[in-house]
Amino acid sequence: MTQQTPSQSTAPLDALIAGYHRFRQIGWTPHRERWTALGEGQQPEVMIIACSDSRVDPAQIFDVDPGEIFVVRNVAALVPPFETAPGHHGVSAALEFAVQVLKVKEIVVMGHGMCGGCKAALTQAMRGTEPGHGGFIADWISMLDDAREPVAETYGTEGREAERAMEMAAVCVSLDNLMTFPCIDAKVKAGSLRLRGAFFAISDGVLHIMDDTTRTFAPVV
Ligand SMILES: [Zn+2]
Repeated sequence: MTQQTPSQSTAPLDALIAGYHRFRQIGWTPHRERWTALGEGQQPEVMIIACSDSRVDPAQIFDVDPGEIFVVRNVAALVPPFETAPGHHGVSAALEFAVQVLKVKEIVVMGHGMCGGCKAALTQAMRGTEPGHGGFIADWISMLDDAREPVAETYGTEGREAERAMEMAAVCVSLDNLMTFPCIDAKVKAGSLRLRGAFFAISDGVLHIMDDTTRTFAPVV
């Protein structure tokens, strides 16, 4: 086994390795039998789509073990619409795997407080930038352009009230886009798959779940 040499050592990697040692000691070793079973395959019943933001780790928020949730994280927790144009459709590939192969029973789209992607969608700060200099983000969050308009009209484009409205509207965009996938639409209508909206902010630590009918978010008590 190759040992880490001092020349490879950096503060960020050292912190990760220290965490790895803690995980080995208290997370992995005492539950070795469970991990051996998981080594044979995974059967998560839930897929979670969350933001890449470092403050909203679904495994931590829902206190789940390995094997329990299938997760996709990206900027602003967005699901693009069903598209067959050439390109590399990462979210679509993950959805296909979760729905058709793993046969998850629920897909949870979880937005979050202080989302930089949603804020950029609201302010349009990245618009017109080159790929590699904000252009990829601008293109990605342009998925929120239609949802942005009523938010900007009602709340303006700055301040937490506007940002929070945009963050919750983004969850609805992803939920609507999920239904453009024929395999998801069919399973939802057949009752074998359920879609849910959720929202979490690290500042108050409160999870909100969206009401399917009213599309309003209520705190979980
Ligand atoms: Zn975010």
